[in-house]
Parts: sequence; C-alpha cells; structure tokens
Amino acid sequence: MDMLPKILLLREELNQHNHNYYVLDTPEISDFDFDLKLKELQELEQSNPQFFDVNSPTQRVGGGITKNFVTVAHEQRMYSLDNSYSKEDLLEWEKRLQKQLGEVSLQYTCELKYDGASMSITYEKGRLIRAVTRGDGFQGDDVTNNIKTIRSIPLKLKGNYPPKFDIRGEIILPFKGFEKMNQDLIEIGETPYSNPRNTASGSLKLQDSAEVAKRPLDCLLYSIVGENLPFNSQFEGLETAREWGFKVPAAAKLANNLDEVFNFIDYWDVHRHKLPYETDGVVVKVNNHHYQEELGYTAKSPRWAIAYKFKSEQVATVLNSISYQVGRTGAITPVANLEPVQLAGTVVKRASLHNADQIEKLDIRVGDTVFVEKGGEIIPKIIAVDLSQRPSSAEHTLYITHCPECESELVRLEGGANHYCPNFYGCPPQIIGRIQHYISRKAMDIEGLGGETVALLYNNGLVQNYADLYTLNVDQIVPLERMAQKSAENLVKGVNESKSIPFERVLYALGIRFVGETVAKKLAKHYKNIDALSQATLMDLILVDEIGERIAQSVIDFFENDENRLIIERLKEYGVQFEIVEKVNLNATNILEGKVFVVSGVFTQFSRDDLKKAIEDNGGKVGSSISSKTHYVLAGDNMGPAKLDKANKLNIPIISEIEFMEMLKK
Ligand code: AMP
Ligand code: ZN
Repeated sequence: MDMLPKILLLREELNQHNHNYYVLDTPEISDFDFDLKLKELQELEQSNPQFFDVNSPTQRVGGGITKNFVTVAHEQRMYSLDNSYSKEDLLEWEKRLQKQLGEVSLQYTCELKYDGASMSITYEKGRLIRAVTRGDGFQGDDVTNNIKTIRSIPLKLKGNYPPKFDIRGEIILPFKGFEKMNQDLIEIGETPYSNPRNTASGSLKLQDSAEVAKRPLDCLLYSIVGENLPFNSQFEGLETAREWGFKVPAAAKLANNLDEVFNFIDYWDVHRHKLPYETDGVVVKVNNHHYQEELGYTAKSPRWAIAYKFKSEQVATVLNSISYQVGRTGAITPVANLEPVQLAGTVVKRASLHNADQIEKLDIRVGDTVFVEKGGEIIPKIIAVDLSQRPSSAEHTLYITHCPECESELVRLEGGANHYCPNFYGCPPQIIGRIQHYISRKAMDIEGLGGETVALLYNNGLVQNYADLYTLNVDQIVPLERMAQKSAENLVKGVNESKSIPFERVLYALGIRFVGETVAKKLAKHYKNIDALSQATLMDLILVDEIGERIAQSVIDFFENDENRLIIERLKEYGVQFEIVEKVNLNATNILEGKVFVVSGVFTQFSRDDLKKAIEDNGGKVGSSISSKTHYVLAGDNMGPAKLDKANKLNIPIISEIEFMEMLKK
C-alpha cells in the first residue's frame, strides 16, 4: 500500500503544531496527543524507509554526531554593528546618513538586540538545508544537525518564498530554561553555567545533536538576505519572515523619525527586564532597501544600521564580608555580603563570587568598594573593584582552607574550579542536604516533610541519614518546635507512603554524585535491581548507554562505602522499592469486573496504553472523564488540578500505578 500521502499529511500536521507551540505560543493539541502523532509518524517512516526525509519533524530529536564541524563560507558576509551609547550618537548618525542620501526623510526599523549566538540559515525550495555560525563573518561552522533540533526553526516553510535565501538570527537560551538547566546541574553536584549567552553558543558546538535537542534553545530572526526578495524594506522583511513560519519577536516596530526611535528605546530600557530572554540594546536600521544599498558598508559594518547599547545597571557599594556556603555535595560557594544598595528595582545585599579563581581575578578585599551589576540571572554579579577607593588597611583575601561547618581540610579536584569539603558523612550541611534531596519532589516526594523540618529533625538528633526517617514516630516529633499532633502524623504517613515510589526514583533519591534523573532511569532499566547495580564493575557500567567513566566511578565509589551499604540494607528492610516492577501481568482475570477507572497524568513504570490495556484485560472499564460513576482515578505525575479537585469532591480514591499493580496481584 502507498503510505506516502499519510506520511506527508502527518508531517504537515506536526509542522503546524510545532509552529503553533514554539513560534506562536498557542498550542492547539495536548503534548500527549502530539506525542501520539509523532510516534505514529515514526513508525510509518520506519516501515517505509524509502520515504525518509531529513526535514521530517521526527528528525528534531537529534542523534547525529558531528566529530568535526566543517567550515563553510557565507555567501554574503555577516557584518558587525556599530555601537552607540546616547541619543546624541544617533542624531549624529542620522546627519551622516543625510549627508550621503540628501535631505530625505528616513523611516527606521527598531528591533531589540538579542544577546546570543548569531547564525545564518540557508533555505532552498522552502527547505532548511544548512545552518552556519557567524565565525569571523566570512566563514563559520556548519552546525546544521544541531540547529535542526530547535523546535521554533521551521524545517519546511509556508507561503510564497523565493527559491533560495539566507535568514539571519540569534540563537538564545531563555532565562527559564537556563535556570532549569542549572538547577539540574546543582542537583547532581555539578558546577552551574555562568550565563545564558555562553551556554547557548556552547550548545551549538556539542558533538551529539541529541544532547542539543534536550536544551531549551530558541531562535529569533532579524534579517533575510538573497536575490529577488519579494519586499523592499526591513520591516516588510520581518513581516514576511513571520508568514513563512519564522519566529520574529513582536517588539519590532517601524519608526517614522528619530523621536519615535527614542520612544522605542525609552520604553524597552525599562520593559526589557520583563522579557523572558536577555537583550543588550536596540538595533536601528534604515528601513528602505534602496537607501540601504546606497549607503553600503564600512570595512566592518553596514552604514545603514546601528546598535544602541543599554546602559547595564550598575551600582557601587562596599563589601562587608565574604562568607562560605557548603552545598549538599560538599561544594563550597563564596558569597559576598554587601552594604545593602538599590539596583534595578530591588535591594541587593549579596552577590555570588563563584570560586577561588574569581576572587583572585578580581583581587577583591573586604572593605573594597565594588561595582555590582544585574544581568538576567537572579543573583547579581560583582564586575569590578574600584581600586581608587581601597582603604589602606584592606588585606589580600585568603581563601578558606578548612570547612566552615566541620573544620575538615578542603580539597580541590584536579581541573575543577571548586573546593570541596570531603567530610561526606560528618559535615552537617551535607548530611541535611542529602536528606533534603531524598525527600524532594522529583525524588521520594515525601508529603508532610519539608527542608526546614529535615534540619530540625537533624538538629534534634532524630535523624542522621535518610534511612532514619523510617524509624520516626509521632511521639518523637510532637515536642519539636512548630510541630503538632496532626503535622507529626502527616509526616509519618508521608514517609510510609514513600515506600511505593518506583526504583528509578529511589535510585535518584540516594544522591549519588552525577546520577541525575535521566541517569537513574537508565541504570534502573539496565540493572533492574540494586543488587545487580551494586555489583557492577567499571567496565560493566561504561557499557550502559550514556554512562561515562566519571558517572561509573562515582557509582562504584558509592557502593564501596560501608555506610552507604548499611543504609541501603536498612531501607530494603523498611520496604523501599529496590527493583523494577515487572510488566503488567497480562493474564486476563475478572478482578476488576464492574470497576470504572479514569487514567490521568504521566507514568514512570508503564505507558498509559499498557495501563488501559491491563484494566480492560482484567475486566475493568476505562472512562474518559471523572464522574460519579468513576470508581478509581489512576494517577501519574502532572495530573491536572481541575481533575484532582473533581476526584476529591466526588470522594473517588486516587491510586498510583504501584497501588494499581498491588490490586492486580490480589
Ligand atoms: P556586535 O556583535 O556587537 O558587533 O553586534 C552585532 C550582532 O548583533 C550581530 O552579529 C547579531 O548577531 C546581533 N543581533 C542581535 N539582535 C539583532 C538584530 N535585531 N538585528 C541585527 N543584529 C542583531
Ligand atoms: Zn564540612
């Protein structure tokens, strides 16, 4: 049978949904339905390899490895921009323009200057064929494989496009995605990235495009270059790019004179702080292409465009002291305690100093007057020391040599920038941090127990490690500060319920360095239970997909430790899950006869389809929405709040996949 029409239709449909979601920000179907369609397309393409297309939406997940990026010449040079820092600069710029063009009245396109990595993308016959970094402006690196994973970049265009053109834009990493990436790194004890811009450009040069696909990159477009373009001004170019499917920020505006340009600048100087990504100025471009041609280029940049740089908000304040924080993995972070000062709408009291090298580089000393700047990140940065203000008594900063919490001598890993406290089992913030990680939402998700309570329990000598949580009883907890009968009962109940958390999450919860959520899943799937994992050799571990030597060694170290082994033995005794629950027992029974289930959310052990099938194979029914006729709601993660509310109102029991499995075993 000819599957081509079906395949083409699905591709078309998925392209449109990608566009709705990533460019227009108005999704029309649920992620779940999208995934179903994508899966259907993947299957069709697999069984009909003759219809393979490098630009199919299935190719977005990446997988191609680039060992060496090929250098490619830009067909048209990618120029820099001249900078300006004041309105006077812009008035002078206009004078120069009018000197060359005569006394014409000029319109300008105003755009934001996005702070990322610039890129030129070539389209032929409406299909993306190549993406090249700016490089030195004449030639750059071919990063096509990586660029294709960015969902907002169309692989196929819509509408009436010319047969060939290049489009230029900026690859950016929005703050939210950047912070999420950093949180994940901190979770597993790695050093976070320093800023979104460098992380974005670094991402483009990753060898494995599947890795790039996981990063929440975006691409904002600002200019089309080519021959016989169907428009003759910059602003129309932007509008046309939108019609073809590109993401062009809505802020871009046509100004009829410089006063309107100034208004644009004044507006965005304030409002840019609310944008989801970093901008560092405004780019003003002569709108009309004929004028642009007449004006031409200098050796470095177009005469018809200029960047206006925002003044980054900086203030001077005094460094009162430096304190040192100890993280869950023992990593030391130096923090600057500042004389409180107003900056970009908030009072700043602290700033990160990153590590010993940073302190050395700034030669920062207590008593110094320092300049503080607020970028997109939440914690402000110290950018420089005002040496002219240095008090004569200021002493060179000596980095601590011993842990401020437990006095152990600090170590510095080879090649690493951070100092660590090696006293894994005796250093209070490390002990508390590990237990806090264990109970966190993505790990054991223990309800009724928060980070502060963990500290309280530890400080009162009730817990020394996460296994101790399972020995707590209500009478021990009630006398503690801010604790009452009810909250103590909830705590014990929450700890008890964590025994049904699946193995892969338990593995993540153990807090083995470098074992994040994804790695824990891989290891759980591969080894199936903790005994097999704990006996694995280095060679063995390295053979597992995506496990490198560093992770493997960390796993080995963890299990070689007697204390860890003891804790795991205890957890086993308490009934925590240390093996993967095998697939649904598909022996048909009538155990669920007459029972109606509604299945909702995302599951970790089984697919939603498996669960539905299991319900039906065992005599139950699957309902589509919660009503008084529903007997059970089988809920995974991320179940919608409306559904949860409804189930609670109707008093319908909500069960997890583990509890469901228990039901079938009976
Ligand atoms: P610079 O690197 O300071 O010479 O500035 C030029 C760079 O600004 C270009 O290479 C682009 O990557 C970047 N840029 C960001 N936003 C825009 C925009 N709206 N129009 C033109 N260039 C932009
Ligand atoms: Zn310590």
